Amino acid sequence: MDHPKEACGLFGVFGVPKVAPLIYQGLFSLQHRGQEGAGIVTSDGSRLRCVKGNGLLNDVAARTDFKDLDGHLGIGHVRYSTTGGSSIDNVQPLMVECIDGMWAIAHNGNLVNADKLRLMYQESGAIFQTSTDSEILIHLLADPMYRTRPRRVARALSELRGAFAFVLMTERCLIAARDPLGFKPLSIGRLNDAWVFASETCALTQVGATYERDILPGELVIADETGLHSDFFCEPPTDAGAQCVFELVYFARPDSRVFGHNIHTVRYQAGRQLAQEHPAQADVVVPVPDSGNSAALGFSQASGIPLDYGFIRNHYIGRTFIMPEVGQRNQGVDMKLAVVSDVIRDKRVVVVDDSIVRGTTSRRRVELLRQNGAREIHLRISSPPTRHPCFFGIDFPTTKELAAANRDIDDLRAFLGVDSLGYLSLEGLLEPLGGTRHYCSACFSGEYPVALEETSIKQNFERFQTTLDLNHQKTAS
Ligand code: SF4
Repeated sequence: MDHPKEACGLFGVFGVPKVAPLIYQGLFSLQHRGQEGAGIVTSDGSRLRCVKGNGLLNDVAARTDFKDLDGHLGIGHVRYSTTGGSSIDNVQPLMVECIDGMWAIAHNGNLVNADKLRLMYQESGAIFQTSTDSEILIHLLADPMYRTRPRRVARALSELRGAFAFVLMTERCLIAARDPLGFKPLSIGRLNDAWVFASETCALTQVGATYERDILPGELVIADETGLHSDFFCEPPTDAGAQCVFELVYFARPDSRVFGHNIHTVRYQAGRQLAQEHPAQADVVVPVPDSGNSAALGFSQASGIPLDYGFIRNHYIGRTFIMPEVGQRNQGVDMKLAVVSDVIRDKRVVVVDDSIVRGTTSRRRVELLRQNGAREIHLRISSPPTRHPCFFGIDFPTTKELAAANRDIDDLRAFLGVDSLGYLSLEGLLEPLGGTRHYCSACFSGEYPVALEETSIKQNFERFQTTLDLNHQKTAS
C-alpha cells in the first residue's frame, strides 16, 4: 500500500528518419518508472541536440520543442532521483563534448563505487557538472586511459560497480549495456530496419517494435550503420545473477516482459501461492490497485473467494511519493484511493497488496475499511517482509522507517490494525521464477549481491596515478 520510490526508464532508437516522436512515445509508456524529469537527445549523424526538463514527460513536452528534434538516432530518459538532487542539472540524458566528439548518456541504477571514483577524478582536477553517480561514466570515457585504447566503452564500463543499465550515444551510434549481474532490465526490439532499446517491453509494444531479446548481464550492444554488434565488458554471464526482484513485484508494468517473465503472470502466480501459504476465511478478495490487481486475482482463483473492487484508484493524482513532504504524502494517499463501501460492508475482507514499506499508507487504508463497515480485515502481501534498504537504485526509506525492519509479524499485525497478516515466502516468490540464484532479494533477505565497500578502488587509483605520472613525464620531456 505504500511503496519505495521509482528508478528510471531508458529508451533509445537507431535507424528511423525522425526519432524524437518515437522516443517520446516510448518514454510515455515508461512514465511509471520516474516522474521527476524527462529528456531526449537526438543526432542527425553530425550533431547532438538535447531537450529536457523537470516534471512529467507531457509537462516537459508542453514547455519545450521535443518533437522538433531532428535525427535518425536518439536516446530518452525519465527520471526519479535516487542519487543527486532533483535539479535540472541532474535530469538526463547528460550531454557533453569530449576532445573527440559528443556523448550523451542515460542511466538506470546506482553505482556503489561512484563516490570513490568521483573523488579520485576531483583530486586530479576534474570538474563535475551534476551530483548524479551517472556522470562518472562520462569522466571515464573522456579519460585518456580509456579514450586512447580499443574497446573504450567496454573498458570504462568494467570499472563500474553496482547496478546499471545505460543507453549512450555519439553522433553516429547508439550503445546499450547492463551491469554484470543484470540488476536492471534492458531489452532490444526491432522496428523494420531500426533497432530499439527499452527498460521494459511495454515501451517496445507502444512504438510498434517487436521484442528481440534482453541485453545480457555484462553485455554491450552497439547499433550503427553496419547493424547490431555485441561485446562483453566482463566475463560472459554465468547462470547466477542479481536481477532486481522488486521489478517483478512492483515496478514494471503488468504488460511488460522483464527478465524473461510476463509481469502479470508472475504476480498472478504469486497470488495463487500466497493463498496456499496463508489461506483466509473471508467473503471477498479486494486488490489494492494497481500493483495488487494481478496477485489478488490469483489469490481469489486459488482460494475460491470472489474478487471485487473495494478500492477505486483516482488516476489523475499521480503517484503519491512524488510529493516529498510526509504531510503532503498522506494527503495524497487519501486522495488516491477511495473505498467502495457496498463491496466491503459487514464482510470479512482479504486485502491483497504487493508490499509494505513504511506501513503508514497501509494503516490509513485499514482505518478507511473499518470506517466503511468491514467486519474483518485479513491483509495478504505477495512478497516477503521488506526489512533492508536498497543500495542499487531503488529509493527505499532508511531501515528505521521500514515497518517490518524491527517488528515481528505479530507486532506488525497490531501496528497495521488488521485481524491477520500473511506475507509470501521468498521461496514461494522465486522458485517458480528459477530460484534465488538469479535474483537480488536483498531488501527482503539482507544478503547483498555486491560488496558495498569497493575494494578494487585502490588498484584503480594506483593505475590512474601511473597514467598521470606517464603523462607528466611526456609533458616534461
Ligand atoms: S535490494 Fe531489493 S529493490 Fe534493491 S535491487 Fe535488490 S531486490 Fe531490487
